[in-house]
This record gives sequence, structure tokens and C-alpha cells, in this order.
Amino acid sequence: MSITVRNVTKWYGQQKALDNVSFTVEEGHVTGFLGPNGAGKSTMMKIITGFLPPSAGEVRVNGLEVRAHLLEVRKMIGYLPEHNPLYPEMYVREYLHYVAGIYRLGRRSRKRVEEIIELTGLGPEQHKQIGSLSKGYRQRVGLAQALIHDPQVLILDEPTSGLDPNQIVEIRELIKKLGREKTILLSTHIMQEVEAICDRVIIIHRGRIIADESERSLVTLQKEQTHFTLQVEFSGSVPARLLEQLPKVLAVEEEGPGTFTLHCEEDLREEIFRLAVREGLTLRGLALAGRNLEDVFRELTSRTPYEA
Ligand code: ADP
Ligand code: MG
Repeated sequence: MSITVRNVTKWYGQQKALDNVSFTVEEGHVTGFLGPNGAGKSTMMKIITGFLPPSAGEVRVNGLEVRAHLLEVRKMIGYLPEHNPLYPEMYVREYLHYVAGIYRLGRRSRKRVEEIIELTGLGPEQHKQIGSLSKGYRQRVGLAQALIHDPQVLILDEPTSGLDPNQIVEIRELIKKLGREKTILLSTHIMQEVEAICDRVIIIHRGRIIADESERSLVTLQKEQTHFTLQVEFSGSVPARLLEQLPKVLAVEEEGPGTFTLHCEEDLREEIFRLAVREGLTLRGLALAGRNLEDVFRELTSRTPYEA
């Protein structure tokens, strides 16, 4: 079951929160929707789930236009909103029965609530009031309500935000497990989150899509285009100018005595090795720095012209 977003623009009064956004989320993937705060992630998710109308453009879920088929689309989608609005005075089990009622699960409710409590690991907390739960368990309740009607598509808005490191690991594991069967779109402003759980990433910045690729090929693509970063470490102190005068060196950062980060147009490891031999220096380390999604993200967001 896929999601197709076509030329979606959203204005809040005078402010354009989404600017002609198009992308597709394919079935059977965990797709990361990555962007800094204010990029437009939550707005896009509210539009996909039909809680907000777009100012222009359209969204289709499994081929159905969202606004025209709101009820059908809601049945296919599970949504964990950003500020996961729960009822603090309700008990976990009572709340899940209430949500099952909204989806008219009828006699299937009882069994389904059991299954979902099991799946989301809510067992030990099921008889507690939501307001008394830890943030991690409240997030599980949010996931449970999103899953109760067994939707094929999950829209999760910053599902790990505000959780402690252990809770983050647990929720990520749960999402990965769900990703084996469902189509998931998950927003985050954390690069590592995408690296940890997504097999595809869409990057949004100031209301525009700036990259839409599988994470691996995005990184490869960037590697080909951009400069190389080397970590160089000599025994004892070495003047930076020795490195600066090498051809194809763009910049030298001195991290400490004899320790440098080099930005260059080519992989200069062999040149540096020869330089060390020539100058009688002892090399302790020489490595080509791996580029991660964070570097790519920084590069993409710093060079894209938005004002156009
Ligand atoms: P993200 O989820 O990526 O942090 P949002 O979609 O929440 O981004 O917000 C995108 C932009 O739209 C921001 O500049 C935000 O201030 C603005 N915005 C969001 N919701 C509203 C609203 N209800 N009214 C006016 N502006 C809004
Ligand atoms: Mg948001």
C-alpha cells in the first residue's frame, strides 16, 4: 500500500509551510522523513492523514484521494501524532477498548486489544492510568492506538522524541518489527534515527524536498560529488603549512599538535605517506573519514537555494 504526494503546497496565512512537495512512499519500507524543526514534517503528516487540507496538490493512499475518501483512508492508516494526545485519566486497557470502539471493531475488540497489548509490550502497565505512565510507555500506548485496527500504513510523527536512550532503543526495535509487515513513514530530526531504522529517506527543509533517495545511494552520490576528508596524526608536532602546500588540499584544521583534519579534492593518503617519508615524520594515523547521513544532510541544507 503506497502513499503518493503530488505537488502539495500548504499556507498558514501568509506563511508557506509546504512548497510544491512531491514524493512516493513505497509499500513494505520504513521511510524516514528527515528535517530540522519547522521544516514542515508534521504539516505533511496531518495532510496525509486527512487532518488538514492542502492548499494545493493532492495525496493518495493506495490510490484513493485522501479528502474525498476520508473514512476509507483513515481505516488504512494508523497515525501517531506529534503530541500524542492521550486521556491521562483513562486506564490503558480501557483507552484501547475505547479506540477499538471508534473503529467499530465490535466483538473483535477484546481479542485485538489483547494482541496489541502483547505486541507493544504494554502487559505490565495495562491496568494503570495513562497519566501515571512513563513517557516511554505513553508512547507505546500511542503506538497501540495507531495499530488497533491493523492498518497497512503507519504515519509516526517523531515517535522517539522525548524518550530516554533505553526507551529509544525499545521503540526503534518495535518500529523495525512492525516495518516487516507495514508501510511506515516516520518523521525525525535525528540523522542517527534514520540510519538506525529506515531503509529509505526523504529530506525536507523549509517546506521543500531536497533529497529523496535510498539512504545508501544518497550517501554514495554525495561522496562522488564532494570533497574528501582525511584524519592525519603525526608523532610530535608538525607545522600545518607542510600539509597546506600539498596540491589539491582545500583546508587544514589543526586539532592538536601533529593532529589534523584535511579537506581535499582527492584522496591524498598516498601523498601524505610520501610527505612523511620525505620529511622524516612518523605517521601514527591516516584515515579517510567516512561520511554519514549527517554530513550529507548538512551539505544539502547549506547549499540549496530556498529563496528562489
Ligand atoms: P516540523 O514538524 O517539521 O517541525 P511543522 O509542520 O510543525 O514542522 O511546521 C512547519 C512550519 O509551519 C513552521 O514554520 C511552523 O511554525 C508553521 N506552522 C505549523 N503549524 C502552524 C499553524 N497551525 N499555524 C501557523 N503556522 C504553523
Ligand atoms: Mg513536527
